[in-house]
Amino acid sequence: MYDTFYALILKPMAYRDNETLVSFITERGSRGSGIAKGTKRPTARWVSSFEPLNLVNISLFGKESQSLKRITSCELISSPMLLGHLESNLVISCLADLFDRVTHEGLEDPRLFRLLKTVTEGLKSRPEEAAMILAYAEFWVLYLLGWLPDPKTCGHCQGLNEPFTVLSEERGWLCQRCHPVDQGEGLPKGTKEHLNHLKSETPISLQSQNLNPETFPIVSRLLRQRLLREMGSSPKSYEVLFRASGL
Ligand SMILES: [Zn+2]
Repeated sequence: MYDTFYALILKPMAYRDNETLVSFITERGSRGSGIAKGTKRPTARWVSSFEPLNLVNISLFGKESQSLKRITSCELISSPMLLGHLESNLVISCLADLFDRVTHEGLEDPRLFRLLKTVTEGLKSRPEEAAMILAYAEFWVLYLLGWLPDPKTCGHCQGLNEPFTVLSEERGWLCQRCHPVDQGEGLPKGTKEHLNHLKSETPISLQSQNLNPETFPIVSRLLRQRLLREMGSSPKSYEVLFRASGL
């Protein structure tokens, strides 16, 4: 039987002779994969459709029980890849690896598809803001998957007003009253405001000049470490990005 749907390509990998194994996130937010045949021929109509984060309309064919179905068509709708934007293209690889790991077959979460789709649109319209957009996506992945508590209240006293001073393993964000620190220690000033700013913006509306230049890199690094730890290890694309841009 045939199945056709919108998807964002995650990773294409060389498979058996003249075949490519392609993973993607479906519009319902689960991970899928399929086999494309005849991809090594120079005239293969596929090749350009399978770049990471391409939005495509993809058709699969195979028996219901078959785990790896065959890709029978893959129509490219839009691609975020831009010539000459090294950092943006590295970020595209990181996002593809990230979503390849955090999505699962049969486990639907349409929010993950919507997030990756808007992030991809943001990258395409503002490739020079790639580092900020990656940090935005990482925050949202942590938050949507429940790996990061809501940055609204203190995890101990539930207070709304005191600044956060630490992200604790057991109780999440803790406030200055519950976990006092000396000035200059603990989380940077404005951490809570920064996180809530990320929560209220989109990858299109987010402006780097509205981000605190001291808070942003420190909090982004903290969240990235947490995300990579949850994933078990850093994907290779992240290593490349770290080396290239020192993020
Ligand atoms: Zn508290």
